Amino acid sequence: MQRLSNFIGGEFSPPIEGRYLEKRDPATGEVIAFVPASGAQDVEAAVAAAQQAFPQWAAVPAEERFSLLMRVAELLEARSEELALAESRDTGKPLWLARQVDIPRAIRNFRFFAAAVLHWSSEAYPAQALHYTIRQPLGVVACIAPWNLPLYLLTWKVAPALAAGNCVVAKPSELTPTTATMLAQIIQQAGFPAGVFNVVHGEGSVAGAALVAHPAVRAISFTGGTHTGREIARIAAPLFKKLTLELGGKNPTIIFTDSPFEQAVAEAVRAAFSNQGEICLCGSRILVQRPLYERFRQEFVQRARTLRVGDPLDPSTQQGALISEAHLQRVLSYVELARQEGGIVLCGGEQIRLEGRCRNGYFFAPTVIEELGPKCRVNQEEIFGPVVTLLPFDEEEEAIAIANGTPYGLAASVWTENLARAHRVAGALQAGIVWINCWMVRDLRTPFGGMKQSGLGREGGWEAFYFFTEPKSVTVAL
Ligand code: NDP
Repeated sequence: MQRLSNFIGGEFSPPIEGRYLEKRDPATGEVIAFVPASGAQDVEAAVAAAQQAFPQWAAVPAEERFSLLMRVAELLEARSEELALAESRDTGKPLWLARQVDIPRAIRNFRFFAAAVLHWSSEAYPAQALHYTIRQPLGVVACIAPWNLPLYLLTWKVAPALAAGNCVVAKPSELTPTTATMLAQIIQQAGFPAGVFNVVHGEGSVAGAALVAHPAVRAISFTGGTHTGREIARIAAPLFKKLTLELGGKNPTIIFTDSPFEQAVAEAVRAAFSNQGEICLCGSRILVQRPLYERFRQEFVQRARTLRVGDPLDPSTQQGALISEAHLQRVLSYVELARQEGGIVLCGGEQIRLEGRCRNGYFFAPTVIEELGPKCRVNQEEIFGPVVTLLPFDEEEEAIAIANGTPYGLAASVWTENLARAHRVAGALQAGIVWINCWMVRDLRTPFGGMKQSGLGREGGWEAFYFFTEPKSVTVAL
């Protein structure tokens, strides 16, 4: 049985109080590892190590940081099969998905921000005086990541934080600790100075909360649920810490009658059920213009029914296990709620029991529900599982009103071949990210994040460097 360690000051170490948590494989229900249940003392040690390392790390030339980050990318690539397997075992996602999406993206994150730091400069305004801006690293920053895309989202934070010259204390989800530990091994092997990168495992409410409250932590880059984001903001705001909060979503997929039908259905299915619906960007409310509704419903439900739910290690599996028994019960409770609210379950709506190795796993059937009003709880609250609703609409204005009518504002996908409408709707939607005739096509240079209760601030491209640095204006009299 694997017993994981924290990574503090360049060394792997057990939690100071010696407490561990059980880590289960969601596909089998079996305990596969013990994770440090770190406390405030471990956080203190990690922050102290990061503080000590900071002055030297901040002074390392960009070229050298570039080389170290590129080395991490190479080492991640060399261990990509092992990383994909670990990610699949920790999350329950299909192994092929971890191979094709999670791990390649983690590698790209390091390459992207390594290259970016070589081109990072700031502005100068020569006038009566010379005004210029210095953007300096902040010091110790916290990177807190969720369980759904563990290495992908952690590296999206860690790579720009390190590239910009900060020292990092990372807190992965206790549910998915393995690849963060492997990243620590790789960062050690790449030759980073001790203390520049640290990992503290443990419960969010203990280790995460201690990290957020620590006075020496200057910024917090957080991805997770809206409820947790609110709690972090409550603690961090009076301490004037910088914050990016990438939170939940209740994203609309809007299908107009003039959409390219085949592609729209296929992508709506992918947007709904990829990674078991456990992606913040998943399209969980599907708005379909009325003349197309019947045809779309028939085709969509048919495809949802035939998605293969199974062992994440089986290459033919399209949907793996949900992250935990507790999450499965939560998803199930939303199906019950949908029935109480008058919804009709068109397919799924129940746990799937597999045979053999995965007989105790947390599998859930792809679920499609209709006949629910846009304001009912199932259409307002994030479920974060393979459960979507279908909603008909008549006019463009109505679609926009339904799409915008939730507390969230993360992403939206719009399907139409009417060019003017596509731009008009994109402009009117309250969402940080809008895809036209596609879903989850990303360019790492574009800002990433949400509006309203989907978060605060943006990640990606220069936005990440703006976040992880403090600007200072200098004026020289000429
Ligand atoms: P949580 O908010 O429960 O947890 C996220 C991270 O925060 C975990 O590492 C967790 O630790 C930690 N944490 C929990 N409580 C605290 C606290 N009080 N102080 C500091 N850290 C804390 O989210 P989930 O892990 O359940 O992830 C699912 C959520 O993430 C969904 O709502 C989803 O929409 C959102 N998400 C948003 C994305 C975006 O980019 N907008 C992308 C992906 C997911 P632990 O797990 O160990 O308790």
